[in-house]
Amino acid sequence: MALTTCTPSPDPQSTAPAPVSLATPSAATKELTSINPEFERALIPVADKVHVAIGYGASTFSFIEGDSGIILIDSGQLPVASGQALKAYRQISNKPIVAIIFTHSHGDHLNGAHPFFADGTVEQIWGRDNFGTETISFKQAGITINRVRGVRQAGFKLPPEKRINNGIAPAVYPKSKDAFNPANAVRPNQSFKNRINITIRGVALTLAQNDGETADQIYVWYPAKRIVFAGDNFYKSWPNLYAIRGTPYRDVKSWVAAVNTLLSLNADVLVGGHTRPILGTQEVREALTTYRDGINYVFTKTIEGINRGMTPDELVDYAQLPSDLANQRVLRPYYGHPDWAVRSIFNGYLGWFDGNPTNLFPLLPQKEAEKMVALAGGMTQMKRDLKRAMDNAEAQWACQLADYILILEPNNSKVMLMKADALRQLAENNVTATARNYYFTSAGELRNRARTVQPK
Ligand SMILES: [Zn+2]
Repeated sequence: MALTTCTPSPDPQSTAPAPVSLATPSAATKELTSINPEFERALIPVADKVHVAIGYGASTFSFIEGDSGIILIDSGQLPVASGQALKAYRQISNKPIVAIIFTHSHGDHLNGAHPFFADGTVEQIWGRDNFGTETISFKQAGITINRVRGVRQAGFKLPPEKRINNGIAPAVYPKSKDAFNPANAVRPNQSFKNRINITIRGVALTLAQNDGETADQIYVWYPAKRIVFAGDNFYKSWPNLYAIRGTPYRDVKSWVAAVNTLLSLNADVLVGGHTRPILGTQEVREALTTYRDGINYVFTKTIEGINRGMTPDELVDYAQLPSDLANQRVLRPYYGHPDWAVRSIFNGYLGWFDGNPTNLFPLLPQKEAEKMVALAGGMTQMKRDLKRAMDNAEAQWACQLADYILILEPNNSKVMLMKADALRQLAENNVTATARNYYFTSAGELRNRARTVQPK
């Protein structure tokens, strides 16, 4: 399982997103459900002899037909799904696959490559010369918890009724026999540093570095058809400027510049790394302008607030997107969330210390919990406060109160179950698929733990 992916959502099976069966769907659930058509399987013709595969796994990938061969841009996440896309594409062209260009090294764009090599015709595999750098620091430090958190973020352990979609990808389940086999991993055999013009079977393309989501990100520009393949610097959601599974700082300023670069191409077609392509010069310009302005707004306000001495908690409120941007389709927080971006920008530049000297050496959690419970009037009163918060549908506050109690009574199954229910409420009222997955999975983990301790 590739957990270094931007959206670790495996898929060989599905053609339709999972149904949602919550008794009374919340507004957030309805909104997230409304984008499911975005992920329906299709081979979309975006220009003469250029097709984009969508819904065959988590990411998009594209077929360009040249004089005597096919050039592929990215290769999907899972071999079975990518093989199904190839089979469908064979109704369109029977020419050999001669080249693959990778927009970046995330597994959801890379790991489906195997079927395209079956005929032994692939000659060139392109990627940037720093291909695969994101995971190196984790490996070197011995970080492994990102995998556990990645499973929560992706919702792999959730039942289908709790997964609507992954915000920018269908929510589906792999069969273990179809999982990616690392023995079939593909690496580029051609690389470049900043920019290169190549011609393959009569198709002239420009590959250019475009640091954003990752430091090995590129865009592919097909000038004859005015198509830009943006990789994961663009998809229809607020971008995952911070991934809650845990990532090194994703340079938000670079991401703004990357979107600006895409905009400067004045393309007729924009193929993002996920979600359906955007067609039309005006539509592309509007989408990229909105995207750039939204990210840039949050970045600029965050820096402004930082320089006024604000803490991350204060900045989240200060840097809220204005409604005219917040309601734009391409900025809706289905996958990433602006609040997380704000915190990440702060941390990316200044590190963990929020600037308030109170927080240089804060009370340990046990001591703070003891004092908060005493402040509430004792444990009995604290539990009453928790119940009241639940009754008032103050789910976030309920979680915070439950945390104090569970620090002091770590085996209190009743409070675990109350917190699990609060997490469920938070999930159902959130449009961000990754947050929902994390809440629902954590709630399930708490319920499992509650079963293993003595009832209270
Ligand atoms: Zn991706």
